[in-house]
Amino acid sequence: MTLTARLAILCGAGALTVGAFAWGAGVGWDELTHLGQARNVVEIEGVEVKIPASDGDGTRLAPRVPESTSGEHSFLFEEDGEPVRLDPCKAVSWVLNPEEMPDGAEPLIHAATDDVALYSGLVFDYEGTTDEPARFDRAVVQERYGDRLAPVVIGWSDGDETADLAGSTAGLGGSTSITGAFGDQRYLAAGVVVLDREDFSDLLETSAGTALAGAVIRHELAHVLGLGHVEDATELMHDENTAITQWGPGDRQGLAIAGAGPCES
Ligand SMILES: [Zn+2]
Repeated sequence: MTLTARLAILCGAGALTVGAFAWGAGVGWDELTHLGQARNVVEIEGVEVKIPASDGDGTRLAPRVPESTSGEHSFLFEEDGEPVRLDPCKAVSWVLNPEEMPDGAEPLIHAATDDVALYSGLVFDYEGTTDEPARFDRAVVQERYGDRLAPVVIGWSDGDETADLAGSTAGLGGSTSITGAFGDQRYLAAGVVVLDREDFSDLLETSAGTALAGAVIRHELAHVLGLGHVEDATELMHDENTAITQWGPGDRQGLAIAGAGPCES
C-alpha cells in the first residue's frame, strides 16, 4: 500500500465560515498596552471579530532546539523571507475528536505530539476531547473555545467525507496564517489534522503498519507547525511514504526552525 500524506495549505483570514461570534467592544488590557495601535480583526460569517491576543508573557515555554542536523526542508507560508510559525511563548493547545477513531490509534497521537514537541521545542497541551469535526473550513475563533484562537483539532474522516483523503492518502494537516492581535507579524493558528480511519484501521493490524501510522501523524503535525513537503524521499516530509518512520536530518532542522519563531508578546 502506498500511503500519501498530502499537503494541505490553508489560506488566512477572510474565508472563514463556521462558528461565528463577536464579543463586547469595551477597551481591555490589550488595547491599553498597545495604545495607538490598531487592533487586527478577522471576518467570520460577515462579522468582524477581534483577533485574540496571546496569553504568553514573552518568554519561551521550553528551550529552543539547536539546529544540529541539516537537510532539505521547506515551509508552507513565508513572509519577508521568514517562515510563518507558531508562537513558542504559548502552548500548542490541541483537542481530539474521537468519533470513529480506530482502536489503538489514540496512544499514537499522544506519542506523536510528544515527539514533535521534543524536536521543535514547542510545548503541546492536550485539552481533551471535542465534538468539533476536524475540517479545514473551521473558524479561527469559536464560542466553544472562548476568547482565544481555536486549538489544533485532530480527528477522523474518510475519502467519502473528505475528498482529499480519497485513494491512498492517509492524512492531511495544516494551519492558518494570521496576524497577531496587533501589528503585521504573522503566526500560525487553528491547526487541523484529519486522519483516514480506514487507512489507519488497516495499518494498525501489523507492527510495521503501526510504526508507519505513527509517522503519518507526525508528518501531519509537522504541517501544523508550518513545514511543507520536500523532494528528498529519505525525509519524513516527502509527500509519499511507504517505509520512513523516523525524522530525517532535514526534517529535524525544519522542526528546530519551526519552533524558533518570534513571540507575540
Ligand atoms: Zn504532507
